[in-house]
Parts: sequence; C-alpha cells; structure tokens
Amino acid sequence: NNIPSKPHVAFLPSPGNGHITPLFELAQRLVTKHDIEVTFFVITTGATVAQNNYFNAYKPHPHLHLHHLPPADMSPFPLDEMTAVARLCTVVRESIRPLRSILSAMKNLKAFIVDIFCTDAFEPCKELSIPVYSFFTASAALMALSLYLPKMDREVEGEFVDLLEPVKVPGCNPIRIQDLLDQIRDRKIDEYKWYLFHVARLSMAAGIFMNVWDDLEPVTMKAVRHEPFFVNIPTPPVHTIGPLTKQIEPVLDRHDKEIIAWLDDQPKDSVLFVALGSGGTVTSEQLTELAWGLELSQQRFVLVVRKPNDIPGAAFFNAGSDSDDPMSYLPEGFVERTTGVGLVVCSWAPQVAVLNHGSTGAFMSHCGWNSTLESIKHGVPMIGWPMYAEQRMNASMLSDEIGVAVKMGVVGEGGETVVVGRDEIAKVVRNVMEGEEGKKIRKRARELEASGKVTLSCGGSSYESLARVIESWKSET
Ligand code: UDP
Repeated sequence: NNIPSKPHVAFLPSPGNGHITPLFELAQRLVTKHDIEVTFFVITTGATVAQNNYFNAYKPHPHLHLHHLPPADMSPFPLDEMTAVARLCTVVRESIRPLRSILSAMKNLKAFIVDIFCTDAFEPCKELSIPVYSFFTASAALMALSLYLPKMDREVEGEFVDLLEPVKVPGCNPIRIQDLLDQIRDRKIDEYKWYLFHVARLSMAAGIFMNVWDDLEPVTMKAVRHEPFFVNIPTPPVHTIGPLTKQIEPVLDRHDKEIIAWLDDQPKDSVLFVALGSGGTVTSEQLTELAWGLELSQQRFVLVVRKPNDIPGAAFFNAGSDSDDPMSYLPEGFVERTTGVGLVVCSWAPQVAVLNHGSTGAFMSHCGWNSTLESIKHGVPMIGWPMYAEQRMNASMLSDEIGVAVKMGVVGEGGETVVVGRDEIAKVVRNVMEGEEGKKIRKRARELEASGKVTLSCGGSSYESLARVIESWKSET
C-alpha cells in the first residue's frame, strides 16, 4: 500500500515502577496526542508485582504495542547477593540480547527511548542507525550531578562522602555530602561502577528527555543548558517534558475503593497520606515510633504499612506483595485506638487516586521522583522522609529550594538513617496539617500544581519542547 505508515518510536525501561511509569506516560502521550506508533518493550525477568499490576490496569490502545521480551536466563548470576542497581542492570543487559534482531525488523523507527540503566541499547541501535534518546526519570539536580560524576571520579581521591565541602556542580545549587545518593557513597562497590558506566554514556544519546519543567528547577536547567562545563561535555540536547506522572488509577480493587470511600467522609485537606514508595521499609523500632507519632498528632491519616526491615528499600523487588500481615507489627491496640481518625492499609495504596482526593491535605513521602511529581501535580505539600537512592537530595531540594516540603530528621550527619521519635513526628505532622509551615508549603504546592498544568498544555514549555522533537522525527524522510 502507498499510505505512509506512522512514525514509529520504541521504548525500553528497566524493570520497576519508578522508571516504567514515566516512560509509559510518555508513550501514551505520543500515541494519543501526537499520532505516533509506539512499541513498548517490557523486561519480564525479575519483574515486580507492582509492575504487573501497572500493565493490567492499562486500557489497550491500537497504536501502542506492548512487547514482552523473552525472560533471560539469569541462573549464572547470584541475583540475591547483588545490590539493587547491579541486579537491575544485569537483568537489562541479559534481557536485551535479542534486541538487535527485533529492532531490525521494525519499520519507520524514528527513535528508541531508554532509561538510564538501559544504555547497553546504544550499540545495537548504532549498528542499525536508530537514534537513542535517554529519558532521565529523576530530578534535573541528579542529572547534573550524574553528568559531573565522571569528572569527580577522575579528580577526587578517596570516597566522596569524606569530602569536607558540599559538592558544587558548575552553576547548580551545592549538594550536602550527607545527601549524596547511595549509589556513589562507596566507590568500591559494583553499584557505583554500574551507575558510573551508565551516566558516563549519557553523552552518546541523541537527546535527553527530563521529567521536570523549567519553572521547577530553574537554576539547574539554566546550568545544564548554558554552563561551559555542560556545553563542553558535550551534553546532548536536553528536552524538559514533565511533569509526566501516572494517571489516576483506572481500576480500583475492593481495598482501594474502601480507602477512597473513607476519604470521602473526611473534611477537605484534613488527611495525611503516609506511603514510602514502591519499596520503602522502616525498621520495627521506627514503625512503632511512626505509629505513635501519628496517634499523638491527633491528625487524620492513611498509613500504608509494610513488614518492617532493617534495609530501607527492602520491598523494592516485591513491591505490594507482603505475604504476612504487616498490621501485626504495629503497636498493640493502635488500629483500634485510631479507628475513625486513621486508616491502615497493607503494603500498597492507589497513590494517585489518594493524592487527587480533596480530603488529602499532605503526603508523608520518601520523595522518590515520581511520588514528588504526583504530589506536586495534585497540589499536595509533603513531609520528606527520604530512604534510599537519591531521595535525600530530593527531600532537601523540596524543602530548602522549592519550598513544598518539610523534612523529617531521618538523615544523620553522615547520611545514615536515624530513628525519629514519636514526639518529633507528632510535632512535624501537626505543624504541617495545622500550623503556619503547612500553610506556606501548601500555597507553594498549589502554585506549582498550576504551573505544572500550564507547561503541559498546548503552548506551554514542556508541551512545546516535546512537540519540537516529534516534529523533527516527522520531518525526517
Ligand atoms: N506507589 C503506589 N502505591 C504505593 C506506593 C507507591 O501507587 O503504596 C507508586 C507511586 O504512585 C509512584 C511509584 O509507586 O508512581 C513510586 O515511584 P517513586 O519514583 O516515587 O519511588 P520508587 O519507585 O523509587 O520507590
């Protein structure tokens, strides 16, 4: 037939919610708003439960094709002994072995969009002359630090955590040493090597999509675009296209509906939503203090509770699938005493539906980037409870620079996790739900909610920056 087929774009995220969500949102946007054909690759090996739920809830679209890569043989690798990033990257590397032959059979492929842990796709795509775009799914501040990392790696002796001064990425706000992301705290471990390997390859991309908009992180965006350091790397063209976040959960199960029904009965802005990401877990001692803190605050709450664990991100590979009852780890009588005031939910809540609800007044969050954007997009201020990865950086930026959050004191002088007591928790919660601090950060969250809407609508900067890239794909013959 002589009807030209639509331009085709393929996506590859590494496994896990945090990366799949923004790439899938972009994929849906390309299909529904920009008339693009999309193939979305899914890595099935090492899949998390949460990832499966995500695709189950998705309504099929005739021009968005999910392509499940065959599960790779991971038996040679001691996955359980590997750090999270090493495990993810190894699963990706093994799973994309058939990619070259799959891509070579695709017609009219204009671009291949991958996340930061999938840069192994650069080589097969280069052989096929397919431009690869990286979608950096975290903050601009982390991207700037990541682009700076190879230089730090060459020039700093010893560990970065032993530096005496904050890290000053050219043109960007300084990063406190205790906020440095976990992956670069110990340069000897495999996690660091994997992270450095991938970020050092960012400059090979045809462009970098970022899930921010210029008004959210103006200082960093200006630096990434204009500072000689970034220009000289050279940094590929950077396209700010955010905030792209998960839509309100289209399918709610019985438990989810109970949460929403409970929220329906609460006054406006009166409920604190407590959820620590897709894999966040706290110690048993901290869970006790958190529960007591909520109770003492006398504020309404929805608490997502997981089985305690000494490792902060312990639930990452099995998010939402606690097998035994986490309620049994809460202080005795807590659930009974807080009935009517609070609601305890096991493992997983429909986060966006909760944030979208008028009764939700604040979000106690681990400050993962998706959670951060979801909160801001719904005008909900935050209490930052950072746990792993780059969340300490996010929490500091949200409170000190952006002004939408108050930080809980869970980070010690050396960046270690410390236990916060019940009285401190109660004080911070009251201050955010009822006090002046709460009013200030809520106002800022609402301003950013509005600016996030404008930037994504026709004529807004994120909309236009995506439209320009699409135009360039469409104008190629
Ligand atoms: N999430 C959810 N329910 C929960 C916990 C998390 O729906 O109970 C979702 C949340 O909406 C977000 C994602 O899981 O889209 C977490 O991503 P984020 O980048 O914030 O954190 P990470 O995946 O790194 O923990």
